Amino acid sequence: MPQFDTVIKNGLIIDGTRMPRFGGDIGISRGAIAKIGRIDGREGAQVIDAGGSIVAPGFIDLHTHYDAQIYWDPYCSISSWHGITSAVIGNCGFGFAPVRPDDRDRAMLTMTRVEAIPYAAMQAGMPWDWVTFPDFLDSLDRHPKGINVLPYVPMAPMLTWVMGREQAKTRKPTAAEEAELCRLLNEAMDAGACGWSAQRFHPEGGSCVQRDYDGTPMVTDVMADETSLALARVLRQRNEGFIQMNLVTRDRKHDRAHYEQVAEVSGRPLLFNAVIAVNSDPEIHREMLRWLHSCHERGLRVYGQGVTTDAGMNFTFADWNLFDDAAPWCEATTGPIEDRLLKLSDPERRPALRKAKPHIITNDLADIIVVEVQRPELKHLEGQTLRDIGQAQGKHAVDVMLDLAVEDGLRTEFFAPALNTRIDLQREVIADPYVIPGVSDGGAHTKFFTAGRYPTEFLIKHVREHQMLSLEDAHWRLSTLPAYCAGFTDRGLLREGYAADLVIYDLDQLAIGPLEVARDLPAGEWRRVQRALGYRRIMVNGRVTFEDGQPTGNMSGELLRHGRGRLEVRKAA
Ligand SMILES: [Zn+2]
Repeated sequence: MPQFDTVIKNGLIIDGTRMPRFGGDIGISRGAIAKIGRIDGREGAQVIDAGGSIVAPGFIDLHTHYDAQIYWDPYCSISSWHGITSAVIGNCGFGFAPVRPDDRDRAMLTMTRVEAIPYAAMQAGMPWDWVTFPDFLDSLDRHPKGINVLPYVPMAPMLTWVMGREQAKTRKPTAAEEAELCRLLNEAMDAGACGWSAQRFHPEGGSCVQRDYDGTPMVTDVMADETSLALARVLRQRNEGFIQMNLVTRDRKHDRAHYEQVAEVSGRPLLFNAVIAVNSDPEIHREMLRWLHSCHERGLRVYGQGVTTDAGMNFTFADWNLFDDAAPWCEATTGPIEDRLLKLSDPERRPALRKAKPHIITNDLADIIVVEVQRPELKHLEGQTLRDIGQAQGKHAVDVMLDLAVEDGLRTEFFAPALNTRIDLQREVIADPYVIPGVSDGGAHTKFFTAGRYPTEFLIKHVREHQMLSLEDAHWRLSTLPAYCAGFTDRGLLREGYAADLVIYDLDQLAIGPLEVARDLPAGEWRRVQRALGYRRIMVNGRVTFEDGQPTGNMSGELLRHGRGRLEVRKAA
């Protein structure tokens, strides 16, 4: 009888601790790493010859929105294609539990706007076989998964459940409601949730970019500091879990102080997004990094989730929603396509649209490029910037963009170039020990961007091309650091007794495919994707989920209740 289920032979092992790579074999039994060292191939029921390729821990993505997609795509692509083996869902306070049956439709409509997940796909693809948060975990547990998943308790459905949507948007919870929120959070944590999340982009803060279906702020946007602190105390009492909170009010000093307070009161890691090195103003990220360092000097575990991909976006005005931080844009891009068409063509609205500056996407709207036009007579505009067209036509960039979009039935595809293309500045973010790579937003905004490619881009761009850091350091950042924040005790490293979540690849073979449109969502909906090339094997809990980019059909992913899989069971078996 062979001693191991699988032996990976001849690997160049990078274990995630930042220790130097070494040549060796890995023996895997019952989903866990049983031995690292030199192992005779005959000891494995199955042998994978790594042939000198890198063997490293699978990547861990703490910022995704696969809450709906996981039900029609158990691999949670594109993340899994790029080596993600564990992902946290329920970010930003958005999710689908707890939700009462008569509120399901409204919950899906909310998600169509805040995270731009197509309504028809959700309606066709979600089983809705849950009501409470513990029910939702049981549902996730039952359904097949190609990666491991950990869910935050998202505060928008929780506040809505306890207070009602309208009440939660207009006032603070009463003492009884706050107690009920804490009770429900405890119940969800008992069931195995990994912590809680809330995006608090107060309308007065000027960053309220992800709005509810009707264009009003989300319930979390107006959530009170007292509520965060009450929820933070729950995690302190439990001594488990972590928090994702984004806070932008009118007063940045207050926001920083409150982040620190939540980290202090909870005693748990606190994550916020995003740290981004904007080309035009290096002081923004430098100041943020200085603050992160000062937090850690004082023992506060505050981490920034860093935008480590080139953050350009493709969009059409048929579904675009990321100008919502500017009120005139939010108003004009809310509602079905016929409404949008009317509003965007309305000359009365143009002065306000020209004046308003949606700041999250691009420094200057004139930099936006026309990618693809539907009407043949407008085709000649493809490839030009709004600035160039505007100069030729004697028009403001906003009028160029909107006249074109309206004439083209809102089907014109635009590209907003990334804000963060300066490599010298990116290096400062990449190299910071308190920045977690990613902000993939996997499963969300899938018509606009494909940041789920971030692990592959990190290795190609930051390690291979620009040598910003060593491969050992890169793997620590992509797996071990997020595993630490997530509270994993048996994942994120290649170590005996740890789960066998790993990737096998050659650095010089890694590549990212072109931006493609995939019509692979339920109800015929589409998304943009980018494939990964060069991962020879991806393994989740000891089984190969992808072989040379092809899914094997193995559904070895698990719901990681309390951050753990069934490894303990496996050990005992
Ligand atoms: Zn998010």
